[in-house]
Amino acid sequence: MTRHPSPVTRHDVTEFPFDPTAVAPHLLAWYGVNGRDLPWRQTRDPYRIWLSEIMLQQTTVTAAIPYYQRFLNACPDVQSLAAAPFGRVIDLWAGLGYYSRARHLHRTAQLIVTAHGGRFPDTVAELAALPGIGRSTAGAIVSIAFDRPAPILDGNVRRVLVRLFAVAGDPRSTAAERQLWRWATVLTPAGRAHDYAQAIMDLGATVCTPRAPDCPACPLQELCLARRQGLERQLPQARLRKAVPVRRQVVLLVEGDGRCLVRRRPAEGFLGGLWELPVADLCDGEPPLSAAVRLAMELGQTGTPAVVGQLKHAYSHFTVDLALARLSGATGGRVAEGSWQWLPLTQLRDTPLHGAHRKAMQRLLGGADG
Ligand code: SF4
Repeated sequence: MTRHPSPVTRHDVTEFPFDPTAVAPHLLAWYGVNGRDLPWRQTRDPYRIWLSEIMLQQTTVTAAIPYYQRFLNACPDVQSLAAAPFGRVIDLWAGLGYYSRARHLHRTAQLIVTAHGGRFPDTVAELAALPGIGRSTAGAIVSIAFDRPAPILDGNVRRVLVRLFAVAGDPRSTAAERQLWRWATVLTPAGRAHDYAQAIMDLGATVCTPRAPDCPACPLQELCLARRQGLERQLPQARLRKAVPVRRQVVLLVEGDGRCLVRRRPAEGFLGGLWELPVADLCDGEPPLSAAVRLAMELGQTGTPAVVGQLKHAYSHFTVDLALARLSGATGGRVAEGSWQWLPLTQLRDTPLHGAHRKAMQRLLGGADG
């Protein structure tokens, strides 16, 4: 028999269906054995914890680790980040996506130096007033760096609580949001805030996972309402996804004499400050080769490009369908006068192209070292 989610927990119910003080001891005992050993767990430095929290907002742990380490090598403290040119910051972030995070990171570092005298704020209110730091990230920094209890409601914690309390309906509704924050606040223990925050985040990341929660391994299985009712795979309710627009483009690797064309995008606007290869939008129904020829001519090239592949890249608000083209034997042309510049092909792999063009470059260069 198919089971359907039922509104077992109304959002306005204020009584707890179990003893809320039982959650933290179970979680902390589990965390003592199963907690993950991550680079940002070896410090209480709020700057490092903030950096890791921002990186993890839209990036997996595995993808974030090399960026975290590279970032810290270049900017080991808030002062060095504040003093770094924005171009340097965006180069360090290139490939991580959601580039407004880098912009906010830089701005916040400058504010901490100028408005807070270089002292890292240690309250949720002060932190949440800074660019790029929401209530949950502020709570994570206060808990993890300063070991003071502050609730967290990031994606992992939200999923755990929705299941623990079997929240039916849209967990992003205003009513559900208010209720989830309330539960998050009551469940947060007065002591061991540093460990508790990481424990509940780890539970969501490793046990109470989106598609396949491992309930038999969960320290909260005796309490969890979704588990008791067999709803753990049906909650949280899936969000209705809007159709995402698709843009068709051609990206062109223009190379000759061991060099290729690249440029840095303007600092302001979409993908601001990142590096890119020549690219053009396709007109309605236009074949990629025709757009590649047009682009080559705009770049002052007389040769004929070849279309050699295709890839898709998803941004938050649209997807790009990218034809990959290559023009070999290019000449200097008039491009040197504009923002385009010739770069030794051997340096292309180390150039911080934005994510879509990094993928395109890797495909265009193939296994050969550029
Ligand atoms: S019992 Fe299952 S659904 Fe409930 S919190 Fe644990 S892993 Fe998640």
